Amino acid sequence: MLHTEMEGIKELHQEVWENCLKVIRDNLNYQSFKTWFFPIKPIKLENNILTIQVPSQFFYEWLEEHYITLLKKTIRNELGPNGRLEYSIVMDGAYTSTPYTVNVPTSNRKATTNPSVQMPIDLNAGNKSKEIPNPFVIPGLKKIQVQSQLNESYSFDNFIEGDCNRLARSAGYAVACNPGKTAFNPLFLYSAVGLGKTHLSQAIGLQVKNNFPEKTVLYVATEQFTQQFIDSVRSNNQNDFVHFYQMIDVLIIDDIHFLSGKEKTQDVFFHIFNHLHQKGKQLILTSDKPPVELKGLEPRLLSRFKWGLSADLQIPDLETRIAILKKRLYKDGIDMPFEVLEYLAYNITSNVRELEGALISLMAQSSLNKKSITIELARQMLEKFVKTSQKEISIDFIQKVVCDYFDIPVDSINSKTRKRDIVQARQLAMYYSKKHTKASLATIGLHCGNKDHATVLHACRTVNNLIETDRQFRTYVEEIEKRIKF
Ligand code: ADP
Ligand code: MG
Repeated sequence: MLHTEMEGIKELHQEVWENCLKVIRDNLNYQSFKTWFFPIKPIKLENNILTIQVPSQFFYEWLEEHYITLLKKTIRNELGPNGRLEYSIVMDGAYTSTPYTVNVPTSNRKATTNPSVQMPIDLNAGNKSKEIPNPFVIPGLKKIQVQSQLNESYSFDNFIEGDCNRLARSAGYAVACNPGKTAFNPLFLYSAVGLGKTHLSQAIGLQVKNNFPEKTVLYVATEQFTQQFIDSVRSNNQNDFVHFYQMIDVLIIDDIHFLSGKEKTQDVFFHIFNHLHQKGKQLILTSDKPPVELKGLEPRLLSRFKWGLSADLQIPDLETRIAILKKRLYKDGIDMPFEVLEYLAYNITSNVRELEGALISLMAQSSLNKKSITIELARQMLEKFVKTSQKEISIDFIQKVVCDYFDIPVDSINSKTRKRDIVQARQLAMYYSKKHTKASLATIGLHCGNKDHATVLHACRTVNNLIETDRQFRTYVEEIEKRIKF
C-alpha cells in the first residue's frame, strides 16, 4: 500500500516535468533543447515546488540566465500561480571526494524591470538643459525606461514573518496587491537599523511588479533623491526632476529621516508627494523614527506622513531569528548543523544585519580554512566578532566603571576634592583613559577634574608604581580592567 502510494508521488513529479518539457520543446530549437534539458532530472514535487537536478553550477547559471522566463511560465501552467521551481545542483566536490548537491530557489530577476513610460518632455530636443538629470534614466526615442533599483533578493518570499513585523508586513502585502488603493498611503515603515525596512519596502516594490508588470516602480534612497535634486538645481532643470518623479506609480523612498534640515529638498518632495497622492499613486517611506519623533522636518510634511499607516519593525524573537538564518542558508544553498544556527540566533540579539553578518563570516571562515562548521568555530568567531563590533571605550565610560567599582558618585572625580579615595579613583580614570582611548593627556586632564597634562602623567606613573608594589591595588586594577573591557 505504502509502496504504491510512494510510486504514485514519484510519478507525479515526473509527469509534471514531462508536461513542462513538451511546452519547452515547442519553444526551443532541438539542439538547445537537447543540450540544456536532456540532462535535467526531476527529483520531487513538494508543497507545489518542483525540484529538478542539474549537473553543475554552470548549468544552473545558464538556465537562470537564458531559460528562466520559459521555465517559470511552464511551471505555472502546470502547477498554478503558486507553483515554483527549485534546483538541486550537483557540485563537483572540490573539498570532498564525492559529489554533493545544494538546493537553490529560482531568482526573481524579471520583477526588477520596469516597462518603458512616456515622458512629458522631449528628450530628443538636443538641448542640454532639457536632459533628464536622473541617473536611472536611459533615454530612448520618446519613451524612457526607469530603472526600478529593486534588488531581487529582497522579496516577500525571503522576508520572514514574526510578531516583530506582522503589522508592517501584512500592510505592505496589502499595498502590493492594491497600490494606491488602500488606506495605507503613504505606508510609513520605521525601526532602528538592521531590522528590515529596506528589505520590506523593496519586497512591496517587487510584489507590485509581479502583480502589475505595467506599473512603474522606483526605489530610491533619500540621499540619492537629495543629490539628484541638488544636481537638477545646479543644471537648472528642476522641472524635469519633478516631472520625472511625478510619473512614478509606486515610489519608495528609503530613510526619509535624512531629509531633516534640508528645507529645499523637503519643499520639492512636498509637491511630488501631493501630486502622487492626489493621482492615487502609492508612496512608501521608511525612517528610523515614527513621524511624531522626527526632528527637522516641516510640519506640513509630517502631517502628511500620518495620513496613511505607520508601522514599526521590532527586534525578532529567537524563533524568528532562527527562521531568518534558515531562510538565508536555503537561499544560498548552504547547509549547517542546526545547533550552530541556534547558537548564533541565541547569541546575536541586536539586529538582523549583525545576525547575517555573523553567519557570513562563519561561512567564510569555514571555507577559507577548510574547517567544518561547528559550535566551537562559531564560538571562536563570535568572540572576535563581538569584540570588533564593540563600541570605542570613552573617558566617560571609564569614569563610570571606576566609580561604580569603588561605589562613589561619578561627579566626585570632577570635583575639587582631595579626599584620598577620590584622588585615587581620579588617578585610575586617568590611567585607563591613557591606556584605552586615543585622547591626549591634555584632554584626559580636562575631563578628569580639569587638571593639566602633567597631572595626568603623574597619575599614570603613580598607578604603575602602585601596581608594582601593592598587591591589593594590583587586584583592583585588574578587576576594573576586566570590567572596562567587558
Ligand atoms: P534596515 O533597512 O532596517 O536597516 P535591512 O532591510 O537592510 O534593514 O535589513 C538588514 C538585513 O536583514 C537584510 O539583509 C535583510 O534581508 C535582513 N532581514 C531583516 N529582516 C528580515 C526578515 N524579517 N526576514 C528575513 N531577512 C530579514
Ligand atoms: Mg535600510
